[in-house]
Amino acid sequence: MYCPFCRNPDSRVVDSRIADDGSAIRRRRQCPECGRRFTTVETTSLTVIKRSGVGEPFSRSKVINGVRKACQGRPVTEDDLAMLAQEVEETIRAAGAAEIEAHEVGLAILNPLQRLDEVAYLRFASVYQAFESLEDFESAIALLRHEAETKGLEGQGLDGKPVQKSPL
Ligand SMILES: [Zn+2]
Repeated sequence: MYCPFCRNPDSRVVDSRIADDGSAIRRRRQCPECGRRFTTVETTSLTVIKRSGVGEPFSRSKVINGVRKACQGRPVTEDDLAMLAQEVEETIRAAGAAEIEAHEVGLAILNPLQRLDEVAYLRFASVYQAFESLEDFESAIALLRHEAETKGLEGQGLDGKPVQKSPL
């Protein structure tokens, strides 16, 4: 690896540490020529196979660009988008495959986006899952409502009273 400052083709590792929960190694390097330090990050390569069959390296910025449009006018910050992209990458890497289909990246976006902003989620899902009618929106919204209700009632029975654990 060339020194990014003086292009010297040699560098010395001065420190290595595991990063991103074990999915990456960061190395601090020093150039013996100019003495400056820089960091390299080593991860397993992750290839996204596009519908055309062409593979390209996974990129968080592509995830962010794909989601940004759905978030227009919504209270979603750049930090939120960066965290979402990180979560998407972690989910995909945790699955352990070296290659994934582009549509699987879309699937991995749905969950964190739903938690981030439900309107953005509906917009993204409507394009990504090719909603064709109002019914598609209705069933997606019904699902969101159902999930919100089940969350709110966690630990409660249908009558709203706390669930009694069965003695068995
Ligand atoms: Zn140098």
